Amino acid sequence: MPIIVQKYGGSSLADAEKVRGVARRIIAAKAKGDDIVVVCSAMGDSTDDLLALSRQVATTPVEREVDLLLSTGEMVSCALLAMALNDMDCTAVSLTGLQAGIQTESLHGKARIADVAPERIEAELEAGKVAVVCGFQGVTKAQEVTTLGRGGSDTTAVALAAALKAERCEIYTDVEGIYTADPRIVPEARKLSEIGYEEMLELASSGAKMQPRSIELGELYDIPILVASTFSDAPGTLIHREVAMEVRNRVRGVASDTNVAKVTVLAVPDKPGIAATFFEQLTDAAVSVDTIVQNTSVEKLSDLSFTVDRTEIAKALAVVEPIAAKVGAGSVTHDAALAKVSVVGTGMQNSPGYASTMFRSLADAGVNIEMISTSEIRITCIVSESQCADAVRALHKAFELDQD
Ligand code: ASP
Ligand code: MG
Repeated sequence: MPIIVQKYGGSSLADAEKVRGVARRIIAAKAKGDDIVVVCSAMGDSTDDLLALSRQVATTPVEREVDLLLSTGEMVSCALLAMALNDMDCTAVSLTGLQAGIQTESLHGKARIADVAPERIEAELEAGKVAVVCGFQGVTKAQEVTTLGRGGSDTTAVALAAALKAERCEIYTDVEGIYTADPRIVPEARKLSEIGYEEMLELASSGAKMQPRSIELGELYDIPILVASTFSDAPGTLIHREVAMEVRNRVRGVASDTNVAKVTVLAVPDKPGIAATFFEQLTDAAVSVDTIVQNTSVEKLSDLSFTVDRTEIAKALAVVEPIAAKVGAGSVTHDAALAKVSVVGTGMQNSPGYASTMFRSLADAGVNIEMISTSEIRITCIVSESQCADAVRALHKAFELDQD
């Protein structure tokens, strides 16, 4: 029988009534003749609540114990959902990451999935049951419990879909799909019926949020991912490889992110190996760097700027400041009140008109651009956080995204 993996997010499972609602949806899906594997997130905000609790008992909670603590959130939702299903005469069994065969690397809090051994799930499906798997968690070779980073249940779901050779992975959440911009910022934003993996990676801030790793995994294993609402039967957005011809070569959407901080190292000596030193040590500290800009050097000195998640600014500065001092660079400055706005679409690289339209419409909206970066499928400007919403609205209008 074809296998469908369905993932339900925390807001879809926030209370007993919602858990029963999800059970009814699963039963309806199974009635269509597919084998169903369900991946659950923790109920509502319970992951945040557990994290808050950990900080009440310890100033710096031991990461190993944080992982064990957080893993309980998904166990609660999975066990409750399996109970509800059984209560409705649908045989179901909940499985922890260990039982589901999810093996990870040994990095606490951000572990990557190394392997999935799906035999137990397959046996449960064979026995006619719905397998309800705890998202976001796995175990290392040494059987230490790990978690996959915030939003990690998406990655669990896609990894299981790949390992089980599922037909599709369905991500159910509290919004109806992916939009041309964040609908809270742009009320005229339209829902997209389909989108490519690369575009989705860039547009993840517009509507349903998914852990980016899950989309990379979907692309790697060619898993179609449907993103839709738990609370309606609206069609949702299909993330997949095939994108219809007529949607190529145009802007698909505007992405924005206000979780941006910039670090600038002034007057860095222009010598081979210096950038390598900065970024190697940032990598070692597990700080992920986004946009990087190095100015053309003047008198053998150049300024180096990069952006990181705002939450990682302290970590980034702790890495960068000592290196700057050691290599004889100037001062290190930072700005934590920034945002990133991008226009996204395949086939933009060879059409310079997109960039000029973007810069003109930002200028007309009085938005100053701090940094610019481009890729094959997007143009990104770093702007001040206070101007982010204006920038997104201006771009949505300039690229006529409100029109079909
Ligand atoms: N419960 C975890 C979180 O809130 C994992 C997830 O929701 O996917 O980040
Ligand atoms: Mg959650």
